[in-house]
Order: sequence, then C-alpha cells, then structure tokens
Amino acid sequence: MNTTSFTDLNLAPEILKALTESGYTIPTPIQAQAIPLVLAGHDLMAGAQTGTGKTAAFALPLLQKLLPFASSSTSPARHAVRALILVPTRELAIQVEKSVREYAKHTHLRSLVVFGGVDIKTQTPHLKSGVEILVATPGRLLDHIEMKSVQFSQVQMLVLDEADRMLDMGFMPDLKRILALLPKQRQNLMFSATFSNEIKKLSAEFLLNPTLIEVARSNASNENITQKVYMVAQHDKHALLTKLLKGDDAKQVIVFTKTKLTASAIAKKLQREGVSADAIHGDKTQLERIQALEAFKQGTVAVLIATDVAARGLDIDQLPMVINYEIPSAPEDYVHRIGRTGRAGALGTAISLVSPEEEKYLVEIEKLIRREIQKEVTVVPQHAVKPEHPHHHDHAPRHYVPHPTSKPKAVHDAWFDKPYEPSASIALIAQPVTPVTKPKAKVAALFVRK
Ligand code: AMP
Repeated sequence: MNTTSFTDLNLAPEILKALTESGYTIPTPIQAQAIPLVLAGHDLMAGAQTGTGKTAAFALPLLQKLLPFASSSTSPARHAVRALILVPTRELAIQVEKSVREYAKHTHLRSLVVFGGVDIKTQTPHLKSGVEILVATPGRLLDHIEMKSVQFSQVQMLVLDEADRMLDMGFMPDLKRILALLPKQRQNLMFSATFSNEIKKLSAEFLLNPTLIEVARSNASNENITQKVYMVAQHDKHALLTKLLKGDDAKQVIVFTKTKLTASAIAKKLQREGVSADAIHGDKTQLERIQALEAFKQGTVAVLIATDVAARGLDIDQLPMVINYEIPSAPEDYVHRIGRTGRAGALGTAISLVSPEEEKYLVEIEKLIRREIQKEVTVVPQHAVKPEHPHHHDHAPRHYVPHPTSKPKAVHDAWFDKPYEPSASIALIAQPVTPVTKPKAKVAALFVRK
C-alpha cells in the first residue's frame, strides 16, 4: 500500500488536526493497512508489535466511527460506552488511553482508563458520568461490572490489545466473562505480537471472519535494532552492566530481569554505586510505578530495571537501549523486550548478557527471530575485585574483546568450552543469582528511597 498521508485515509478534520499537532505526518504500515479495514467495518486480527504505531491503527478509525455519537451534553445518558479497549497491564492501559485522549482532543468523545491497584472508588464517579471509550484491564473491569458502575448495552467496538500477553497472564476466563456481557452485534479488533495456536483459537472464538493483517513478520524482530549478545558468567554480570551503563549511548536504558527480586537487587546496588536507577515491577504500588516511569521519561532516572510483565507496553519515545540482564526463557518475551527500543523508525541497541546456563534460551530466541545475534566476549572490568587485592583497583576496566571467530554458532562457541574461571571479584559482585522460582516475600520494602 502506498498511502502517503493521513488525509488519504478518510479521517475527519478534527482527528487530522490532532495528528498534525502530535507531529504525525505519514501513517505507519499497520495504520495504512488497518484504518481502511476498520472503517469498512471488518473484524481484524492484526499482527503488530508495540512500536509499530498499532495504538493509532485501532484508535483513529474507532474515533472516526464514534464521531456521530459525540455530544457536548453533560448528561451521562448521552455518553454511553461504545468502545471497549482491553489491555493486559496498567501501564499499557494508561498509555493507550493517553493516546486516545490525544487523538480525540478536538472532538466531544470522552475516554477513561480503569485499572487495578488503585482505589476503585476514585474511578466510579468518572465512569458514571459517562464515557464513549473505556480502556481497562480485565480484572478491574470485572470489579466495576460487579459494582454495576458500567453498562455495556451500547458497545459496538471491542479491541483486545496485546492479546497474546493477556493469554500469557491468565486473563482468558476474565475475558470470556466480559465478552459474554457485550452485545453480539459489534466489531472486534485483536492485536497480538505473536500468532500462537492459543491466539488463533481466541481469534476463532471472538472474531467474525476476521481480516488478517501483519506488519513485517510477527515473529521477526525489528530491523532498526542492533542486537548484541555478551557472553558472560552470571557472577560477572553486574560488573559488566555497570560498565555498559557508563557508555555514551546508555543515557536512558531499560534493564530486564526475570524476577522481581533480581530487579530490586540490581536497582538497589546501582543506587549504592551512584547510578540513578529504579525498579518497576508488580510488587510496587501503582503510584510508585507511575512515579518511576515518569522520572525515567523526564530523565531524572537513567536506568529502569523491569520485569517482563511490568515493562509490557511501556511507551518511551526514542529509548536508545535495552539490556537483558537475563534473557527470557520464552523467546517471544525477547521480541517484546527489544521492541521497547527502535520504536517508530528510531534506531536502538539491544544488549543481552548471556551466561552459559542461559545459552539454551538464546538458541530458541535465534530460532524465533530467524537470525543469529552478534556475539561478543568481554573481559569483565576489574575494579570490583576483593579489597584484599588492592593492586587490582588500579586497573581501569579493560576493553571488551569481541569474539575472535566473529560469528560462530552459539552452540559451538569455543568460549563455552573453556573451563569456568570465576574472577577474584566474585565476592563483591555476586548477585542474588536469579532464582528461577521467585520467592514469595514482597520486596517493595527494599526500595524505600532516601
Ligand atoms: P505504538 O506502537 O502504538 O505503541 O506507537 C509507538 C510510538 O509511535 C508512539 O510513541 C506513537 O506516538 C508513535 N506513532 C504512532 N504512529 C505514528 C505516526 N504515524 N507518525 C509518528 N509517530 C507515530
């Protein structure tokens, strides 16, 4: 498709005005494909990752279709819920609604976001005053349904955003309960970064003859992102991370961990080392998460340490770098993680610290993205060695040495054949090493900021 401008897409002047003000000039490929189809009334199964412009791809035609219902009346009866957008996480909910609000700012259409973790009573009055577009996480929406603070008889459009993640997070029963309450006659749009069998099943169940659209291959990772793997022993990861964070291109970095505990520990340790870092994960209160994200966006926090769930859907303009402190065991999560950078055409770097124990996950990731990731072997900086060897302190961190055999297959990398050489620095840089089974204890208390 050769759409060159938003004006070709039959959107109303008030929507176009908002787009111009947001600095959008050219529709992204998913927008160029989806907008005409949604306007024509099709159900959609769209394969698109975050960063492709997928929010506007569903929000713009949705607003266009709801424009006839826009009313300046203050009566709640004139503001029935007409579109429901379900998303897996609070952060994504906030971002999606913010975008909808931005695109709708020159119309009389109202939007609202509801999500868990905050006092439900603060949301109810807004809901009762009437909104056309409701963005919600499934659990909290069910709470509102039970409290009878929301009515769905006028819903004509349903969006399931990041449907794959909703399934991963176990929202299927909640989704079924919600969808059973919606009018049968409605348009359904489903967005997913991956097309697993479960997603296909969900699509067969909820969509009516959906048109399938995909931008790039859904399982391919973004071309704008330079991907690198550092082969490093687990106990050397923190020292390497510290070194990487000192690089010129590491002004604003998201570091991914598998567990909340590791995220907390890294943030705390970096803070002690004088790095402005904070963690964002499910054990933090909603307010703490929003504050951490805001501080990161403003640049007062340079490093945000996040778990997969917490980071899902984070939209940070021009994030230059993500670092996988641990690579995920589910290869799709790798694609999601690196999709935080290189958004909307910008360039990004995704660095993964891979210990020999994690090599099997790397193999799976490379299979999924159908490419081999450039491997580097590095000499871990020696400044963090034990104090009983003071002479080591004099050494500036040594340069990383790229693997001599350029790009060997990860499985046959000679580096892995070498016996393990734990550095003298173990005692000081050892992490509470990545327990795969996460402890039940809450860790939020670790984070009281001075
Ligand atoms: P999304 O994939 O919806 O999370 O969007 C990723 C980022 O791209 C967001 O910051 C959007 O504001 C931005 N964006 C979306 N569509 C466009 C466009 N057509 N032109 C410029 N930026 C866009």
